[in-house]
Amino acid sequence: MTKALRVICLVLLAILLAVGGLTLYKINKPTEGENTSDPSTESTPDPENTAEPAPEQTSTPEPYGEADPVFTDVNSYLVVANKKHRLPEGYEPADLVNPNVETRNGDWQMRQEAAAAMENMFAAAAQDGVSLVLGSGYRSEELQAYLYNGYVADRGQEYADTISSRPGYSDHQTGLAADFCGNSDPSTDLSFSFENTVEGEWLRDHAHEYGFIMRYPKDKQDITGYAYEPWHFRYIGVDYATKIYNRDVFCSFEEYFGIEGGDYAD
Ligand SMILES: [Zn+2]
Repeated sequence: MTKALRVICLVLLAILLAVGGLTLYKINKPTEGENTSDPSTESTPDPENTAEPAPEQTSTPEPYGEADPVFTDVNSYLVVANKKHRLPEGYEPADLVNPNVETRNGDWQMRQEAAAAMENMFAAAAQDGVSLVLGSGYRSEELQAYLYNGYVADRGQEYADTISSRPGYSDHQTGLAADFCGNSDPSTDLSFSFENTVEGEWLRDHAHEYGFIMRYPKDKQDITGYAYEPWHFRYIGVDYATKIYNRDVFCSFEEYFGIEGGDYAD
């Protein structure tokens, strides 16, 4: 055997040993979620093995509570707008688009990811014979001021606060909130009776699969600050929407994430 051949053989042998050692380590490594409390069952990587062991898998804690910056970060899909949380003055999302869905009462925009999710949701509903319509989407602080001031002028502030958000406090200003209607009975638009329409029932059962939650669930006014709105949904992403839905079909965002809600401070 020539010297060069011997060197090649040795290199190949070294590679085989390294790969074999790594594979054994991977096989023996405890998987996440398994009970590893018994130290005798834990495998330790071969100290001779120079391959870097994978860093310990630690699941990041779920966002929770007032102090978590995710709830005030307008770039987060968990940003909160309620009667205790005002959005930054004049906030306008940078990625507003028109979802390619049937609309009513105007030509509504949503943030890009929410719009795409909505298009998928409307298509899935149509497959089930359910005809959804988008009745409201992004509303600017300016438009919200116009609407709110109109209600105040007509019926007084106390009444206005029960049916409309003050400018800067509206979920619709996030570009992630939508009011849905249906084609089965337009007389139920923006009313409690929407919950009994085929569209209302479909949304209650399936919206979370597309990242939307019912933002103002039944009997949660003290917590959310708003009476039941079976038509108002909010995009937060499939992961959290599914977790909230699985806890309780009428679980509110505020309850799940430990966020202050209810009425205005003043
Ligand atoms: Zn709404």
